Amino acid sequence: MKKTIKLYDIDAYQTDFTAVVVFCRPVSSDSREQQPSEPLYEVILDQTLFFPEEGGQNSDTGTLNGSIVSHVQIKNGIITHITNAPFASGETVTGEIEWETRYSNMQQHSGEHIMSGLIHSHFGYDNVGFHLGSQSVTLDFNGFLDKEQLHMIESLANEAIYRNIEVIAEYPSEKELLKLNYRSKIELNEPVRIVTFPGYDVCACCAPHVRRTGEIGIIKIVDAIRHRGGVRISILCGRRALEDFRMKQEQVYAVSALLSSKPELIAAATERMKEDIFSLKGQIMELQEALIGLKVSQIADGTHNLCLFEEAMEAPVHRKYVNMLVEKCSGVCGVFVGNEQNSYRYIIASKYEDVRTVNERLKHDLHAKGGGCKEMVQGSLTGYQSDIIRCIQS
Ligand SMILES: [Zn+2]
Repeated sequence: MKKTIKLYDIDAYQTDFTAVVVFCRPVSSDSREQQPSEPLYEVILDQTLFFPEEGGQNSDTGTLNGSIVSHVQIKNGIITHITNAPFASGETVTGEIEWETRYSNMQQHSGEHIMSGLIHSHFGYDNVGFHLGSQSVTLDFNGFLDKEQLHMIESLANEAIYRNIEVIAEYPSEKELLKLNYRSKIELNEPVRIVTFPGYDVCACCAPHVRRTGEIGIIKIVDAIRHRGGVRISILCGRRALEDFRMKQEQVYAVSALLSSKPELIAAATERMKEDIFSLKGQIMELQEALIGLKVSQIADGTHNLCLFEEAMEAPVHRKYVNMLVEKCSGVCGVFVGNEQNSYRYIIASKYEDVRTVNERLKHDLHAKGGGCKEMVQGSLTGYQSDIIRCIQS
């Protein structure tokens, strides 16, 4: 079978085309990961505008004679479209690509070239992994870059946009290729397509790009993490960057209103709020400790079994309370913190009995989760106070 003519190579801005069907067959059920409800077909055309999944980039989507093209693959230069309708060999079809996604991919991909070229020329690191999905765009480099270095690269990359440079894609002769110094991810034996961002990047690449760098709009690094001894950078370009900016701005303004603070001061305001919460927690603990002191003083020495309920109590106070009560108790003493609607955290202790027996009853009757030693058990459960009391008393 002849290789498919890549119309997107000739003009990345064309959105519809006509082609002749070369081959069509149903997608075999065993080659599909899951059984979808509708049958799918593999369609090969003599030429296509659909960019296939290649080089870490998602394929284009769109329609063929109105039927959905959900995925496009390439193997040995032959491009296969996955559609939800069959076509007859020799039939002429009209195809249309989903332009908004394609243009976004062109923006992201072109931004990636500028970033990779700049990082290569400034730090000598190679792009060793690229992923352009529907949500994220990630670039992996075989060397680490810190925040300052990334800032510098980001600024230079955006200057390349302001300069609105023409992007050139061409197929040089073998002789010309030998003289060229270009980035390449794989060994190529096909006619090599060289994409040049003059002054920034020269790279072997098969994907569609924007005509001029100004169309990228903006390149923003949104994340950078250490990855396999190097760095994985997430970037957003063009409309994707604008949408991300909108989302983050909405979040910042919402937090700013909640904190009654200027947007540029929300981090400091949040820090102060955390400190306030910490200090209030300390005050609550002090008050709770004073309260348990009073409560314990009202319990007579030698009380047999004790089963007490508290709506809220900090964990250290809860433990202290039980430790104080157990001194006054000649049987089993349990403190349950929480309520019947949600759940209880409990601690049960005794100086005279094995409290694991009580714990087993709670597990059996109320599906409690917890454990401990014979002097003290702790856990959590959901149940009625009357049922809990019965388990403690019996
Ligand atoms: Zn490219």
